[in-house]
Amino acid sequence: MEKGEDRHIIAFPFPSQGHINPQLQFSKRLIANGIKVTLLTTLHVSRNLKFQGAYADSVRIRVISDGSEDRQDTDTMRQTLDRFREKMSKNLENYLREVMDSSNPPRFILYDSTMPWVLEVAKEFGLPRAPVYTQSCALNSINYHVLHGHLKLPPDSPTISLPSMPLLCTNDLPAYDYDPASTETIIEFLTSQYSNIQDADLLFCNTFHKLEGEIIKWMESWGRPVKAIGPTLPSAYLDKRLEDDKYYGLSLFDPNKDECLKWLDNKPPGSVLYVSYGSLVVLGEEQLKNMALGFKESGKFFLWVVRETESQKLPPNFMESVGEKGLMVSWCSQLQVLAHPAVGCFLTHCGWNSTLEALSLGVPVVAFPQWADQVTNAKFLEDVWKVGKRVKVNEERLASEEEIRSCICEVMEGERANEFKSNSMEWMKWAKEAMDEGGSSDKDIMEFVAMIKQAS
Ligand code: UDP
Repeated sequence: MEKGEDRHIIAFPFPSQGHINPQLQFSKRLIANGIKVTLLTTLHVSRNLKFQGAYADSVRIRVISDGSEDRQDTDTMRQTLDRFREKMSKNLENYLREVMDSSNPPRFILYDSTMPWVLEVAKEFGLPRAPVYTQSCALNSINYHVLHGHLKLPPDSPTISLPSMPLLCTNDLPAYDYDPASTETIIEFLTSQYSNIQDADLLFCNTFHKLEGEIIKWMESWGRPVKAIGPTLPSAYLDKRLEDDKYYGLSLFDPNKDECLKWLDNKPPGSVLYVSYGSLVVLGEEQLKNMALGFKESGKFFLWVVRETESQKLPPNFMESVGEKGLMVSWCSQLQVLAHPAVGCFLTHCGWNSTLEALSLGVPVVAFPQWADQVTNAKFLEDVWKVGKRVKVNEERLASEEEIRSCICEVMEGERANEFKSNSMEWMKWAKEAMDEGGSSDKDIMEFVAMIKQAS
């Protein structure tokens, strides 16, 4: 065996869009530094991985079953999660049994923090391990306090003070009640991310010190080293060298990117509102109608991603009524869109990946969160990082057409718009600095690389 051949690790992300790309991008950095990575994932995900460019052959894929073939329509969320865990941990065990005795055994396993049972399996095999958190450290702090009984969700006081965090109001805390029948299961699932960290070697977070330094420091009081390795965007985007590196990782949907980019190409700089609410959020008809009318009334060009399953809910003939002003697609290459000079504002549901992408590409936001961590991310976008406005909603969490219109105009026109843009440009600079050679995230990544090389 050649020297260095066995610098091999496993990456095991949760099989959903927002969780896979951060680990893939992290893996890419490791590969560039001489580490071999096997990505463990499901058949469905492996079929949709779109590798391009220099890294196409570098990530080895190993497919394992998640039990979804046995799924019944009547399954509750708890049943689905239990089956997933049971099946995946058995299959992981089988895989490790095979590979730990091979000529190139893995030296480490990175696993999604929402799958804490991976740690137990790894421990049986004596395999060093670390969870990768794909949400903000603010969320880690909140969930950790919930797990340890120091915070109730929903809370019983109107304001909440947590270490190293701004004062939070009730509506800044993650909303886990979107499916009342499953609230308890969801809280259990999300707080379990911290249940056995004392047995993890490290904790990896997709964030960077300038963004969440105080909270990262506080997390270190948990007794494990915390490595901030983000933002995990392809380096080509951080450097705006789009042609140099076409590694986009995973898209579980078909990107419609050529159409979008062509449409954006002939729009003036900063003139387009880009709208997306990620891969999972489902909106009601009334909300979609208010959004549609708010966009139209704003008078701005808009590029709107509406997933196929959502499009039937739109007002009839809406897109015909706006003509050249708008383009609707079912999915796009969001990074390419955000990096396009025509885009002046991102109306986002504030998923953590979209949040980091907006900050890293210098695009001001209209924050329109729906549930879970999105709500807390919106609070930080508006009040801490100051890169945009958060949409106000009524008790049913509905935003009016006028509220949407006025947020868009405030973020795209006038004095406040200039402020948001200049703050966004600062964040873009700091995000890039963190990932550049010698930057805070690069250092944390390189320390891990050194640790793996030492162990090999
Ligand atoms: N995304 C994309 N095309 C789209 C919409 C979203 O590529 O049309 C990507 C986006 O860049 C982000 C991910 O999908 O990386 C969504 O992750 P996020 O955490 O923002 O939201 P989630 O889908 O998990 O709610």
